[in-house]
Amino acid sequence: MHWPRAIPQYHVGYGRVKGAIDQIEADAPGLLLAGNYRAGVSVGDAAESGHAAAQRIIERDA
Ligand SMILES: Cc1cc2nc3c(=O)[nH]c(=O)nc-3n(C[C@H](O)[C@H](O)[C@H](O)COP(=O)(O)OP(=O)(O)OC[C@H]3O[C@@H](n4cnc5c(N)ncnc54)[C@H](O)[C@@H]3O)c2cc1C
Repeated sequence: MHWPRAIPQYHVGYGRVKGAIDQIEADAPGLLLAGNYRAGVSVGDAAESGHAAAQRIIERDA
């Protein structure tokens, strides 16, 4: 079966979505968002996104 929306597609204008994600985090200290919608859809990108979120927690709690 083909599921056309299985992987997020970064359409034209996705920069606005990414800006909104940044703003949501800025407005809600302690909320950290990570995943394939953030900075690339590959497994590696998703892992890096999670690592970056973990790094922000470590820096916040240092
Ligand atoms: C068919 C397919 C093939 C792919 N092939 C490749 C490939 O060959 N190489 C590559 O690099 N990338 C590939 N990708 C892309 C890559 O696998 C994904 O983009 C990546 O795994 C996404 O990681 P993620 O952690 O953001 O999301 P996910 O791996 O989707 O993890 C999200 C997790 O959150 C859980 N979850 C969702 N909602 C809730 C909730 N409300 N409460 C609690 N838990 C929840 C889900 O159960 C899931 O475990 C493929 C993707 C698909 C769909």
